Amino acid sequence: MTSDTPSYAVDLTRRLIACESVTPLEGGALDLLQGALEELGFVITRLPFGTGGARIDNLFAIRQGDEAQPHLAFAGHTDVVPVGDEAAWTHGPFEGAIDDGRLYGRGAADMKGGIGAFVAAVKALDEAHVKTGTISLIITGDEEGAAVNGTVKMVEWLKAEGIRPDFCLVGEPTNPTQMGEVIKNGRRGSLTGKLSVTGTQGHVAYPHLANNPVPALLAMLAPVNSAKLDGGNDYFDPSTAEIVDLSIPDAAGNVIANRAFGQFNIRFNTEHSQETLSGWLSEHFARQAKGFGVEFEIEWLCNAHPFVTEPGEFTDRLQSAIAAVTGRHATLSCSGGTSDARFLCHLCPVAEFGLVGQTMHKVNEHVALADINELTAIYSAFLKQD
Ligand SMILES: [Zn+2]
Repeated sequence: MTSDTPSYAVDLTRRLIACESVTPLEGGALDLLQGALEELGFVITRLPFGTGGARIDNLFAIRQGDEAQPHLAFAGHTDVVPVGDEAAWTHGPFEGAIDDGRLYGRGAADMKGGIGAFVAAVKALDEAHVKTGTISLIITGDEEGAAVNGTVKMVEWLKAEGIRPDFCLVGEPTNPTQMGEVIKNGRRGSLTGKLSVTGTQGHVAYPHLANNPVPALLAMLAPVNSAKLDGGNDYFDPSTAEIVDLSIPDAAGNVIANRAFGQFNIRFNTEHSQETLSGWLSEHFARQAKGFGVEFEIEWLCNAHPFVTEPGEFTDRLQSAIAAVTGRHATLSCSGGTSDARFLCHLCPVAEFGLVGQTMHKVNEHVALADINELTAIYSAFLKQD
């Protein structure tokens, strides 16, 4: 292959980038993928969920294979985040331009490149006449958006259909700087608290006639102010808590306001649950409120629970595939933000491995062509029974 002939993986990724699938739009990306998978013998089920503006298109593809081999699933998303400052892109975000050994475009790393590599991996095995087990793809158009009518609903549908893969590989970009560094075998949970404190309004010169809610709010937020909540464990870093918003809605220079508001987010590991955290903090808030003589309201939003996939047959197999192609020993890590793996872990064991994530969500998102081709080889080696 000469340098001007892109591999099938690169070509498919370029064609996917050309589909303007800014979340929640399908943009033709799932149609394109459906065509590519049908050519490889996959049976496709399109799974639109939601109504009106919240309607999201999703795709499930399956190809039955050798029953003696495990059923391996691949999960990903074709939706992408908005382009941001379009004028700042050196190549059009939906052009799929190749320049100096790199492919540019929104979704190149996160994660149309991962999808292109996986489809190319299956095609390469077919061309080499390698017999595979059952392979399926769980592809959503709702990962970067609300994540309500995407993977979470597909997982419910798969369970109802009795489809249970033995293992699911998620193609999110997991490598910080180069291929072969990191497999994500779990993710932290995320809990947001919105705390509103009500005191008594008054003139700032007559504080004895008022009850300022701000000191109470600060005392209530003390345990979540840049705090480490534990020492971490085998797979997870310590849980962390950060204040993300502080405001006084009716602030004025000569007034003690009657309301103050604070918001915080906790990224927590498997040492905690939503219930233990909210229970502990609610008790603390009540104690402080009583001491300061104020009222409070707390609203909790938990959009991810922590999970971990213990190392085993499939993580070993993935590590071996990565080592065979890159020469590197990928470490297992549960750091970073949330992903749809938080839903897929209710279906089967799940781990994530994909491209280098350095430019994801940024202007000039790009990946090295060599990385897409290495990822194709890694996925092929993973799918191939020894
Ligand atoms: Zn992604």
